[in-house]
Formats: sequence, structure tokens, C-alpha cells
Amino acid sequence: MPTSSGRTFEKLRPADGSLLCHVARSDAVDVDRAVAAARVARADWAARTPVERGHLLRSLTLALQARREEFAKLVVEETGKSLELALAETDAAIEMGFFVAGEGHRLYGRTTTSAMPNRTVMSMRRPVGVAALIVSFNTPLPNYAWKTFPAVFCGNTAVLKPSEHTPASASFFAELCQEFLPPGVLNVVHGLGPETGAPLVEHEGVDLVSFTGSAATGRWIQERAGRRLAKVCLELGGKNALVVCDDADLDRAVEWSLASAFSNAGQRCAAASRLVVFEDVYDEFRERLVEGARAYETGPLISEDSLVRILAALDGADVVTGGERLDRPGWWLAPTVLENVPADGDLSCRELFGPVTILYRVGDLDEAIELVNDSPYGLTSAIHTANLHRAMGFADAVQAGVVVVNGGTHGSEPHMGFGGVKQSGTGWREAGVEALDVYTEWKYVNLIADPAKT
Ligand code: NAD
Repeated sequence: MPTSSGRTFEKLRPADGSLLCHVARSDAVDVDRAVAAARVARADWAARTPVERGHLLRSLTLALQARREEFAKLVVEETGKSLELALAETDAAIEMGFFVAGEGHRLYGRTTTSAMPNRTVMSMRRPVGVAALIVSFNTPLPNYAWKTFPAVFCGNTAVLKPSEHTPASASFFAELCQEFLPPGVLNVVHGLGPETGAPLVEHEGVDLVSFTGSAATGRWIQERAGRRLAKVCLELGGKNALVVCDDADLDRAVEWSLASAFSNAGQRCAAASRLVVFEDVYDEFRERLVEGARAYETGPLISEDSLVRILAALDGADVVTGGERLDRPGWWLAPTVLENVPADGDLSCRELFGPVTILYRVGDLDEAIELVNDSPYGLTSAIHTANLHRAMGFADAVQAGVVVVNGGTHGSEPHMGFGGVKQSGTGWREAGVEALDVYTEWKYVNLIADPAKT
């Protein structure tokens, strides 16, 4: 839908900087219109049974599956990532759709005991109301799916604010949803963060704000939505660490480190931006990692701004490899490895969201755990070791929402809850049945069947 002002902005292709499309630049008037539509649709949608909402979601997901390649090609254009990666993400979002649709036949509550005779107590989930869903650009379809599917399935109506960097996939997703969902259930507002996202966060008609993005934006959202005590779920950044012990399978550890640090040009909340390596294997690991980094084919960054910001952050750092813009159109940064960065230095604490990782040298596991936990973030983590005690000791002590043994610093599968501790989030978990807690409120129903018996 065109904006009330008729204003637009340009979306450029990250791979070569050429113009992809003009995008509606929504403002507070457009946001108000979208929230009004969501409020009108709310009661009828909430009154449908979970089974029916699950069926609609399954039909929508099947349609998405049928058009997966079309969708993935749009993602390639607007992000510059490979088709292989875009297809894998699309498939992950499709799985999410099927997983949530299956909840139509569950959405369990509980029954519990009572101190009072003749009383039955049950809990049931109820929708929250109108949900504002604000997301990042990095994996467009999973980002829409992780929020939109559970939000609408649970009986909420929603206003989705996609990233300004991924308007093409967002329009495609919105059009597909319109085919299956009643009018007003999902509304999409394109635009820039401060002009479109901010009025959405501050809108009195929004009952829940679910946000995926940077800690800086998340902090602002928490403050503003907190003023009216709206429910707020924040999924934020990471400075994720992968530990390589002296008994690790080094080939695998290098392979997983490269994929964790550089896939999707390091634009993953779960990217391994810190590699913590035992002294005894440090030199060998470093040599193999650098060789791998030089050969690694990663995609472009999402914008010129992002590239300029990261290059400025690298100024003066001890660069082992990379650290420079590639000589080609678009926003390409060579896979970059740093070392000799102090554990409490700015580069160790700040998420760059690009293909940059830092090597650290440690003497033993205790030192590794101390270093890993010395971070404002706590999203994902990994350890490579052949020793069960080390693996379990690390899993127990690490401050992170996800731990992986002998793999990468992953995200999540649709049936697994995903989220972090400290500044990586506010305690909620997305995906899995845990997502239902974000998009529903519990109601406790007390039933005294025979009043005469109380
Ligand atoms: P960002 O915070 O700049 O933007 C995220 C979204 O918020 C965009 O849609 C943007 O337009 C909007 N926005 C910006 N300012 C706003 C405001 N004042 N009010 C409301 N909305 C506003 O983040 P980004 O650069 O798009 O994404 C990168 C960040 O996202 C990284 O920190 C990354 O780790 C994080 N991320 C986290 C997860 C997770 O699950 N924890 C997943 C993906 C990305």
C-alpha cells in the first residue's frame, strides 16, 4: 500500500551497489493506519479456534514451500548472499511454519490441584492483542517467520516492520500472507527505523513489541514501550566465542570456525567473533585458519554504512589477514582475522556484525571460560574437545543461551528455543514451544462445579 506522504527511499543491491527498487517510506500516519487495521481484526481472529488458525498457517506454509526458489532469488538480490544460503534459510522458515501449525492440535494448558475441595483449576493460553514485530535484515524469511507465525497462530494480529534493507522479500511474504489470512491480521509497514519503527513502538494500540536487532535499538525500545508497560521481547546481538582445546580435532575445529565466523559475511547474531585457542595448538590452528580465511568466499555486507563502520572499528587493530575492502563494486570486506586484542578492549566487547573474528590464546579451560564469560553478551558458544569432562564443564559454566560441543556457534532449529543471556536478550526464547510464551498470556480458570460442596 502506498504511504500517505508518497515518499520513498532507494534500496541498492549489496553485491554491486546498483538500484534494486524504490521502497515506501512509512511514517507515523501509516503506522497508525496499520495498527488500526490490526485492532479491528483482533476479536474475530482471536475467536477462531487454534485448530483453524493452525490449518491456515499450514496452507500458507505449503504455498511458501511451492515458491521457495522465487523467494530465495529475491533474498539473493537484496542481500547479496548465495542462492544456496538463501534456499537453506527459506527452508528453515518453512519448517518453522509447519512446526507452529502443528501447535493447532496442542497448545496445551495444565490442570492443577487445589487446597479447596471440589475445585478444578486449569490454565489456558490467550492472545496478547496487537503485536508489533520489528526485525533485522540478516536472514529475512526466518526473521519474519520466527515472529509472524507464532504471533498470528496464537490469535494475535500483527504489524510487521521489516528491515529497510530487505523490502523485496518482505513484500513477497506480505502478499503471500494476505492470500491466506483474513484482512488486518498481518499488516506490513516498510520504512526506516526512526520514522517507522519508533512510532510503532510508541503506539498506544500495540500490546506487545517483539524485536530482533541490535542492543542499542533494543535498549531504546525497552525504555519507550516500558513507559506504558507494554510486553516487550528483545532478541539482540552476540559476541559469541568458540573454544578450541588442545585435544580438539583441528581439521573440524578450523572448518567450524570459518563457517561460524564468515558465513553470511558474519552477519549472524550467532557468528563466532571470538576464537579462544589453547596455547599448545594456537600456532597450528592460526596457520590453518588464516589459510582458510584467505580462500573463504563470503558475501557482501548489507550496506555501505555497515562497511564504513566496520573498517573504522578495525583502524589500528593487529590484522592477521583481511581488514580491507575488496576491489569490486558493492560492499565486500575480506574475511578478517585479528589478534593481540585485549579481552576488555572495545573490539572484544563490541559486536561488529561482519566477517571479523579475533584470536585469543589461553593456557587451560578455566582461563578459556573466564575469557568467554567476560563479555556484555551471552548468546551462543561452542567448544571443541574430545574430553567429556571439559565439554560438560564448559556447558555448565558458560554464560550463554546456546552451547554447542564440537560444532559451530549455531542458531536454532524450529523446535528448539533460541535466545541469550545478559545483553543478548531479555530472557525470552524464540522458536520452539517457548515462543508461545511470548505471544500468549496465561489465564487461570477456577471451576467449582457444585457450589453446595464448598
Ligand atoms: P538494528 O537494531 O539497526 O535494526 C533492527 C530493526 O529495528 C530494523 O527493522 C530497523 O529499521 C528497526 N529500528 C531501528 N531503529 C528503530 C527504532 N528507534 N525504533 C524501532 N525500530 C527501529 O539492527 P540490524 O542492523 O538490522 O541487525 C543487526 C543486529 O540484530 C545485530 O545486533 C544482531 O546480532 C541482531 N540479531 C539478533 C538475532 C537474535 O535472534 N538474537 C537475530 C538476528 C539479528
